[in-house]
Formats: sequence, C-alpha cells, structure tokens
Amino acid sequence: MAHEFSIHPALDNGIQPGADDFAGGTLVCHCPQNPVKVRVDAQSAHNHACGCTKCWKPKGALFSVVAVVPRDKVRVTEQGEKLRVVDPKATIQRHACSQCGVHLFGRIENSAHPFYGLDFIHTELSPDQGWSAPQFAAFVSSIIESGTDPSLMGEVRARLKGLGLEPYDCLSPALMDAIATHVAKASGALKG
Ligand SMILES: [Zn+2]
Ligand SMILES: [Zn+2]
Repeated sequence: MAHEFSIHPALDNGIQPGADDFAGGTLVCHCPQNPVKVRVDAQSAHNHACGCTKCWKPKGALFSVVAVVPRDKVRVTEQGEKLRVVDPKATIQRHACSQCGVHLFGRIENSAHPFYGLDFIHTELSPDQGWSAPQFAAFVSSIIESGTDPSLMGEVRARLKGLGLEPYDCLSPALMDAIATHVAKASGALKG
C-alpha cells in the first residue's frame, strides 16, 4: 500500500515550467504583518529539491526547493532588521526571519568556496511566476536524518522520478563536477 507523504507542496501536483523571459522577483517571509522582503534581480539557476537537514522546508514537506542566484542581484528591501543568521559557523549562512523562521537567503562568505558568489534562495517565497523549474533532487538519503522511515525511501525515490526529478544522494553530477573542477584548479591538478 502506498504511504501518504508530501515531497513538497509546490511539487506534489506536478512541476510548473519556468519562463524564458523571467528576470527576477521578490521573496516574502511568512509573517502576516511587516514581512521581510528581498528583491532578486535575476532568474534562478540549478533549482532543485533538497533533502538535507539545513535547508528551510515548509511544514510537512520532506524536501526543500532551493536554487541559486548571483549574490550581487540579491537585495533586502524591507524589514531587514528581523533577519538573523541561523548558524554563523555553517558554510552557508542562512539569513532567516527571526519571527516566522523562514530562510530568505543563504550566503557563502568563504571566497575560496566553489559556490562563492551565489546565494541560495527558495523561489516559493515569491508571488512572481516564471522562476526556473526544479531539475533534480539532491541529498535524498538525508531525509532519514530528519526522521523519515528508511523503509519509505523506495517510494520517495519513485515519486521523485515520476515528477522528473532524478534522485541523487549528494548533488547532481554537473554540480559535483563543478566542485571537483574548482578543487582541482585550486590544487594545480588542472591547469587554467
Ligand atoms: Zn517573517
Ligand atoms: Zn539542503
């Protein structure tokens, strides 16, 4: 018998395609009054479902949906004083609303990191339509660390594949290759 679970509310009923001419939107936290607003003047890239324990997920969802944008295209426009860094020691500093808990953006401050210069955002926080669609699922096995029964994993991976999201237990091959290339150039194993 199939079990009831939600991959993510924005994915459970199929995935909306992105719009080619989309150039950004505004992220809004969940506070009913005086929400934090963050303007993003770029289309998102590498949008994906993530099963790690650090990304912000809506209530009841097994996965977050997270994408990257250039950090110089991200600007806090309202109620920035409500933002707090969730864990200042983490590689990705997640700037969250201290009242509702939503993560508005995650930023890497280590300039040697392969993803330095990119901010992590959750496009579902934006009422604007046209953000790039999720393309794969990362850190799938990590949902067990959040308490998911390991016996559900077969169904979870089948549901992801049914949505067109290839399940990976780290990042996608393209992103793992990008990280390895950065490391190899830094070490001198690759030239140029
Ligand atoms: Zn809030
Ligand atoms: Zn994550």
